[in-house]
Amino acid sequence: MNAAAPATSGTPGVSPVQEEHGQDARGGNAHKRDARGTKVRLRGVSKHFESGVGDGAHRFEALRDISFDVADGEFLALVGPSGCGKSTLINVIAGLDKPDAGEVFFEGQPVQGAGPDRLVIFQDHGLFPWLTVQKNVEFGLRVLGLDKQARRERAARYLQMVHLTRFRHSFPFQLSGGMKQRTALARALAVEPQVLLMDEPFAALDPRTRDILHVELQNLWLQTHKTIVFVTHSVEEAVRLSDRIVVMASQPGRVRRIIPVPFPHPRDFLDPELVELRANILKEFEEELEILVKKEGDDDWHLKAGSISARPPRGVDLGLADGI
Ligand code: ADP
Ligand code: MG
Repeated sequence: MNAAAPATSGTPGVSPVQEEHGQDARGGNAHKRDARGTKVRLRGVSKHFESGVGDGAHRFEALRDISFDVADGEFLALVGPSGCGKSTLINVIAGLDKPDAGEVFFEGQPVQGAGPDRLVIFQDHGLFPWLTVQKNVEFGLRVLGLDKQARRERAARYLQMVHLTRFRHSFPFQLSGGMKQRTALARALAVEPQVLLMDEPFAALDPRTRDILHVELQNLWLQTHKTIVFVTHSVEEAVRLSDRIVVMASQPGRVRRIIPVPFPHPRDFLDPELVELRANILKEFEEELEILVKKEGDDDWHLKAGSISARPPRGVDLGLADGI
């Protein structure tokens, strides 16, 4: 399959949702998603930071001309190397940060600031250590103005969804990393946002816990029909979970290409087609990694056959076999 074929046309970096043909488990397909409309629209979003001081001061281009749409109910992954602007982009969508140029629309309206309709879940779960699991989930509901009874019922519903009812009276320090992230998920979902923005939420978890959370998040997504923008530097994670992958490139942070992942949910993570798609995307990534390697190391540092290898400078025999 030509899984990594460009999905772009028209404006560079823009992949209109209309171009997709993927089926999903809800019996829908991309065209049905179109009928539900666009949730988030980015047009020409650019952002720079000033860094350094005095003579070392310079302008750093974190995002350049980012344009894509996120359809209602879509699971979109943002993938790219560290420093390519993923978190900056999430913050801009959340309204926590403003772009220098371009616009972000939420349900057709320009984003003016943060709001409970677009919630961010970070790698650091951000739970309040002095509150129980249940009180953590209820916390945001108080801000929404729900009374005690309504808060309790809503928290119970979402804790059941993440299978933590039994641990509702535990404190965060009594939970494993995976349980903390599931609590954070319940807390965010309980607010019933329109869009869930997830910034590398599982990056600090061990692989087995991550596997469990991948299954869990897929199920939650299928139950709640939330629109999710999921940042990761893991191609595997993106291929497992998302409908489309926005692959970013760095310096300046920009959209390299948008790749549809047209497999039904819930996914079998060992599906050979899925594994093949991951391998194809990783191959493309080698170019990005090569750029990173050149930027962060000596000129004689090379990528070789998918692994990073230090070749000895010409004429120097370190006694190492080639490719180590
Ligand atoms: P990613 O999430 O992809 O790792 P970020 O969005 O965090 O990347 O950052 C993109 C680039 O912008 C990085 O090089 C980072 O150092 C820089 N950057 C991010 N936030 C700031 C800031 N507040 N001030 C200066 N530079 C920043
Ligand atoms: Mg980041």
